[in-house]
Amino acid sequence: MLNRELTHLSEMSRSGNQVSEFISNTFLDKQNELEIPCPMAKTREWKKRPHHQTQLEGQGTLTQISGVRKLSQSTGLQGSSISRFGVKTDQEELLSEDLENINKWGLNIFRVAEHSHNRPLTCTMYTIFQERDLMNTFKIPTDTFVTFMMTLEAHYHSDVEYHNSLHAADVAQSTHILLSTPALDAVFTDLEILAAVFAAAIHDVDHPGVSNQFLINTNSELALMYNDESVLENHHLAVGFKLLQEENCDIFQNLTKKERQSLRRMVIDMVLATDMSKHMSLLADLKTMVETKKVTSSGVLLLDNYTDKIQVMRNMVHCADLSNPTKSLDLYRQWTDRIMNEFSHQGDREREKGMEISPMCDKHTASVEKSQVGY
Ligand SMILES: [Zn+2]
Repeated sequence: MLNRELTHLSEMSRSGNQVSEFISNTFLDKQNELEIPCPMAKTREWKKRPHHQTQLEGQGTLTQISGVRKLSQSTGLQGSSISRFGVKTDQEELLSEDLENINKWGLNIFRVAEHSHNRPLTCTMYTIFQERDLMNTFKIPTDTFVTFMMTLEAHYHSDVEYHNSLHAADVAQSTHILLSTPALDAVFTDLEILAAVFAAAIHDVDHPGVSNQFLINTNSELALMYNDESVLENHHLAVGFKLLQEENCDIFQNLTKKERQSLRRMVIDMVLATDMSKHMSLLADLKTMVETKKVTSSGVLLLDNYTDKIQVMRNMVHCADLSNPTKSLDLYRQWTDRIMNEFSHQGDREREKGMEISPMCDKHTASVEKSQVGY
């Protein structure tokens, strides 16, 4: 399945023009009778559109990965040295206090955002990579790292209430903590750690603030691209990897070919596992594993093959993604307000379009209590 998706994606990007042409020749004159979304008609419109616009609902083209754009603002690296945390800040002392908690479950990511000119993802990742010495281990040039992280962060939508770079930073930091669980001591290699933290950082990039089901129900370009299967998760991965190709963004430039392949395979696995529709099967598999797994005399889980390791890793990122209720009440409240707002905006759009309103998205009936039970 995974291989098929990948082949599909690369085929699309390589031979997208021929595919478009073929479908266009076959279907174009029937397009008005058949109510199917037709990307070809929109390809022409798209070419005229400004480069920076994102195209998620019924716009864009299959020949390229939507959402990837050149940064209009500078990364802040020109002519200035990089601060201790990889971001420009005039509140370095406060930011330093916040990030002292980088190895704690209770880190206040909202304050990190406040003290970093709203670059929580860049400075959290920078601090995690320093803390774990990943820059040295994988020979990642500092300026490349910061350029990539700023570019990635800019591809999160700041106007989306929950699925923005603050959430990505939170999931990356939570993953960083879970990786240090005593029961997993020395279980993971540096490459696996790099993959898990990277997966967490990119796992929601270019999220439009609506669900997979919404994208499917509105015949969006993305749903068409990914055949309704884990639409957003596939898109986050495609954008995350595509951004590595931007200028001075390849943080994996000094990895061997084999390491890059292995990292890519793990990251794809972990991000696809964040799809909530996979939650039950993920949990069932984990339960079986826990029941049958051996533990060493020192209490460390014995994970001796790739299948077992990747299973734990995909659950770790998934748990970090759902970890809001395990944080302090103050933090948890802020997250729930944000997700409820995002849901109710989706509900408003569904109401406008005369669609059925998704569960938890109707602002007239949804409540935090009900939605959290359902989560
Ligand atoms: Zn997420």
